[in-house]
Amino acid sequence: MPHYDAIVIGTGQSGPALARRLVAAGQKAAVIERKFFGGTCVNTGCTPTKTLVASAYAAFLARRAADYGVTIGGPVGVDMKAVKARKDAVVAPSRQGVERSLKTLEGCTVYEGHARFVGEKKVAVNGIELEADRIFINVGARASIPPIAGLEHLPYLTNSSMMDIDFLPPHLVILGGSYIGLEFGQVYRRFGSEVTVIELGPRLISREDEDVSRAVADFLKEEGTDVRVDSKVIEVEKQGNSIAVKIESGGRISQVVGSHLLVAIGRRPNTDDLGLDKAGIATDARGYIQVDDQLRTSVPGIWALGDCNGRGAFTHTSWNDFEIVAANLLDNDPRRVSDRITAYALYTDPPLGRAGMTEAEVRKTGKPALIATMAMEDVSRAYEKGETKGFMKILVDRDNKQILGASLLGLAGDEVIHCILDVMYAKAPYTVMQRAMHIHPTVSEFIPTMLGDLKPLQ
Ligand SMILES: Cc1cc2nc3c(=O)[nH]c(=O)nc-3n(C[C@H](O)[C@H](O)[C@H](O)COP(=O)(O)OP(=O)(O)OC[C@H]3O[C@@H](n4cnc5c(N)ncnc54)[C@H](O)[C@@H]3O)c2cc1C
Repeated sequence: MPHYDAIVIGTGQSGPALARRLVAAGQKAAVIERKFFGGTCVNTGCTPTKTLVASAYAAFLARRAADYGVTIGGPVGVDMKAVKARKDAVVAPSRQGVERSLKTLEGCTVYEGHARFVGEKKVAVNGIELEADRIFINVGARASIPPIAGLEHLPYLTNSSMMDIDFLPPHLVILGGSYIGLEFGQVYRRFGSEVTVIELGPRLISREDEDVSRAVADFLKEEGTDVRVDSKVIEVEKQGNSIAVKIESGGRISQVVGSHLLVAIGRRPNTDDLGLDKAGIATDARGYIQVDDQLRTSVPGIWALGDCNGRGAFTHTSWNDFEIVAANLLDNDPRRVSDRITAYALYTDPPLGRAGMTEAEVRKTGKPALIATMAMEDVSRAYEKGETKGFMKILVDRDNKQILGASLLGLAGDEVIHCILDVMYAKAPYTVMQRAMHIHPTVSEFIPTMLGDLKPLQ
């Protein structure tokens, strides 16, 4: 039985980097990947969707060309084959880069196949059993499919199969009004599809504050997306070439008929087919591998990183997991998951950049806090660019003046949020930002201006 110092299962955002660090430290490693090197982010998540967002933005801006005094001289068309080809051309080098870097890494053996635990420190792949002193699980997550009547008989789409689309769906119906559903929804609306978003809850992106949800719903509706909230899908069925989605809303039954159905109601960890019971690795009720603050599982010598541990659902949280495990094992640096501050973005246009707590979360703590908001209409850079949708909001601790959280929905919100995030990591008072000279004209220059308007959170 081949024996390794370390086995890494899955090549998501943490596994490959960790394998490289371990090998550099003189360890003999095996890496196992069952499908695409680079995992979700590279192949069916961040990278491809952001290339689609870029194409959709180009189409949107081209249609608005006249607003800028630019003439196009005809209707704006979208060539979906070219859109997909561009997406593929961005994805392929990333995927190949991860694959090549692992396969050429001296001290690392790559196995291509499905890994399954067959004992505490034993993993089987392609009929071979491997043993290791340490095992690192980075198996990620996949689209969760709800038990809706009729769904199993339909050719529904997920974030993965959406990657193969090289045509314009005439009417895309999306189940789920959260981050993934809204990104795809706006993209396809801008490509020219009719889009209906069906959300079970009373509002879109329900983890965000109500004002943020409302503003996002407003700009999506303004672009022609049909948004249905408080809507429970009770049945789906094929009607000729169409798909009929039966909805119950407020006790009334209605139907949306579309050409394609995208299921985007959430994610589930890829842990159900991993033989975790053979190793005695504990999971929670939803299948997420239970880990401590340094990402150790219930079995000594086995760690879980990335989406499969339920401690994050982003590329940067998975990467941060790698940093935490590598720091603890190789650098004698006791980094912890609880050291990190919530941060993520929603890549609609305009995007939402988030850091720390929402206003609702701050209210729940009962802490005395201050709040300031600013409409993007008042930000000169946004005005100059003709992109004034959205608003910014920031909350600070009244007593120690540290920033508690921010939601920046607007032009460059996904970038500007980092000037707030870094001050939060520094645990510095917000007044530091008021003494920093920011560059004009930028969105960031208005963060200190907004801070000048802080008022008690009532
Ligand atoms: C549509 C979409 C858009 C997204 N956009 C963003 C974004 O903009 N920003 C962001 O931060 N995050 C985004 N995410 C989330 C992000 O993609 C993930 O959080 C990120 O990829 C981290 O994943 P991971 O490292 O946990 O594993 P993954 O990247 O999911 O990789 C896991 C790997 O393990 C392999 N594997 C699974 N089981 C086995 C097994 N038994 N044996 C061998 N190999 C196995 C899989 O094939 C896969 O390659 C998006 C996700 C989706 C779906």
